[in-house]
Amino acid sequence: MALVEVRNLHKRFGSLEVLKGVDLQVEPGEVVVFVGPSGCGKSTLLRCLCGLEVPSEGEVIVGGTPVRDEPKALQALHRRVGMVFQRFHLFPHLSALDNVTLAPRKVLGMSEDEARALGKRMLALVHLDSRAEAFPSQLSGGQQQRVAIARALAMKPELMLFDEPTSALDPELVGEVLEVMRELAREGMTMCVVTHEMGFAADVAHRVLFMDAGKVVEQGQPQQVLREPQHPRTREFLSRLL
Ligand code: ADP
Ligand code: MG
Repeated sequence: MALVEVRNLHKRFGSLEVLKGVDLQVEPGEVVVFVGPSGCGKSTLLRCLCGLEVPSEGEVIVGGTPVRDEPKALQALHRRVGMVFQRFHLFPHLSALDNVTLAPRKVLGMSEDEARALGKRMLALVHLDSRAEAFPSQLSGGQQQRVAIARALAMKPELMLFDEPTSALDPELVGEVLEVMRELAREGMTMCVVTHEMGFAADVAHRVLFMDAGKVVEQGQPQQVLREPQHPRTREFLSRLL
C-alpha cells in the first residue's frame, strides 16, 4: 500500500475553495516535487498531509491511517510526519541541540541523556555536530534550516514534507540545504517537496507534479514534466522560471 493516499481532497476556507479534488499516492522511498504558481494550493496540500489542516471533503490516509479531525489522531500524525517550512521557526533561546531534543524529551518522553545522544546523531546527519551548542542567532540561515531538518528527523518520521525550504535563504546558502535533502533522499526517506529549485527536481525527484488552481494538472518523471510538459499551463509556468 502507498504511504500516502489522498483521494478527492477538497479544502475550503469559507467560500474560497483552495483544493478542488486532489488525488495523490506516494510510495515508500519516493521523492515527489510539487511545483506550481503562487496561491495554487501547494502549502495547503502539504499541511493536509501532516494534519495542520483538515480536509473539507475527501480522504487523506498516511501509513494506512485516515487523517481525522480529532486531537489524538492529529497528534499521532504529527509524530509520523516531519515538516520543514520556509521560515525555520527555531526557538531562539535554545541551542541547536536543545531545539532538536525538545520534542523527543517532551513528546516521546526520552531521558535527557538519550535525547542528547539522538540530537547529536541528528545534527551530524545535517553536518552541524560541531555547532550543537550554538544559538540560532549565531548560525547562518542555511545552518538554521539544517537544524530545523535535524529537529524534524529526531522524531523518526516516516514522511518528510518540505515547503519551499530554501526560499528564504541567501542564494549562496541554498546549496548546503539542498545537499542535506539530497542525502536524505539517497537514504530512502519518503519526501514531498515544494520548491522552485528545478535542478534539485530534475536530479532528485522520482516524480514532479504540477499544480494549478487547486488541482494536479500534470505529473510524471522529471525529464518528462520539466522538458516536455504536455499541458499549456505547465509550459507557461516553466517558461517563466527560466
Ligand atoms: P501556495 O503554497 O501554492 O502558494 P497556498 O496553499 O499557501 O498556496 O494558498 C492557496 C490559497 O489559499 C491562497 O489563496 C491563500 O490565500 C489561501 N489560504 C491558505 N491558507 C488559508 C487560511 N488559513 N485561510 C484562508 N485562506 C487561506
Ligand atoms: Mg506555499
